Amino acid sequence: MYDLLCNGCGHRTAMGIIDKIFEDMKIKNDVIFAHDVACCSLLADYVYYDGIMCPHGRVIPVSIGIKTANHKNFVLSYMGDGAAYEIGFNELIHAASRKNDVCVVVINNGILAMTGGQKTATNLQNSNFKIEDILKSFDVNFIARAILTDRENIDIAEKYLREAFNSYIERGGFNMVELISPCPTNYRKSIAECVDIINSVVKERYNVFMECR
Ligand code: SF4
Repeated sequence: MYDLLCNGCGHRTAMGIIDKIFEDMKIKNDVIFAHDVACCSLLADYVYYDGIMCPHGRVIPVSIGIKTANHKNFVLSYMGDGAAYEIGFNELIHAASRKNDVCVVVINNGILAMTGGQKTATNLQNSNFKIEDILKSFDVNFIARAILTDRENIDIAEKYLREAFNSYIERGGFNMVELISPCPTNYRKSIAECVDIINSVVKERYNVFMECR
């Protein structure tokens, strides 16, 4: 499954977890999968949700429009960090500020993957980008971060995603989970080396397991 993705790609892990949660929640038929272009779009051929590929960085406003017209649907806003924290940063911040009903999943690998690995705001050399501090200032409903490396951390990611999805259904408002993810292709490392980088460098710089609600 998800064969278009490279070996070791975090999108595969993330979507596997998300798919399982929707199955458990028995809401698969209600989900609308709004996703960004680039590597996110490689998932579209493998999931069975109604969905839309949004212009780069515009997943959140498209999701808000879909949710406004389809109150009963679960609209998943799925994107990478390039979309969330670079080209779509304005949309993210204003959705948090307005407390729009959104459920955002950000796959953060610190690069623009499909265009060759250009660094984003969350690249490994930058420790100053604290999205949680910005979002907390807007008193959002739920934000959390986990890392997609080993079984234990993937279980934590699943727990956060379940909580975010339930919060979105029960309370609405702005809900987001960021999943720090390996991109072996653009790091030009083995999968094991990517996991080591995340464990040794990223954990030091990020407040991993950050959560607030
Ligand atoms: S380039 Fe990176 S993010 Fe894109 S599919 Fe490959 S491993 Fe995943």
